[in-house]
Amino acid sequence: MIGPKSCAHCGGPFESKRRTARFCGAKCRNRAKREANREKLRAQARAWRAANPEKVKAQQRAWRAANPEKAEAKRRAWRKANPEKAEAQQRAWREANPEKVGAHRQHQSTNRVKQDNRARIAADQHAAMRAVQEILSGTIPT
Ligand SMILES: [Zn+2]
Repeated sequence: MIGPKSCAHCGGPFESKRRTARFCGAKCRNRAKREANREKLRAQARAWRAANPEKVKAQQRAWRAANPEKAEAKRRAWRKANPEKAEAQQRAWREANPEKVGAHRQHQSTNRVKQDNRARIAADQHAAMRAVQEILSGTIPT
């Protein structure tokens, strides 16, 4: 046994049979290796993403499906930070899906007509009620 030595990653004391041992265990050795190669690993990950766009998209889709609230929050934050891009995306989508836009507009205008009708009926009912109340209170001579 040689030691105690201090771990080159966590600084903790450790003993080793090997004189060249620098880390207290596999965990610290791996972490130190990862940190030393951070840029290289990042570049590798970037290259993999560039080479596998379909897999990246599938992963993103799976994540969004598993974390709908987080995904929506991210989307909202992104739209807020990139209003021009968000608008451009929306425009592009509308141009690519004119039939859906038409259906949506149709739906909206149908709703508007329904709302107008409801408002008119409510106003009529209100007027009728007022007339009844006026008659009952004797404001209008019967
Ligand atoms: Zn350690």
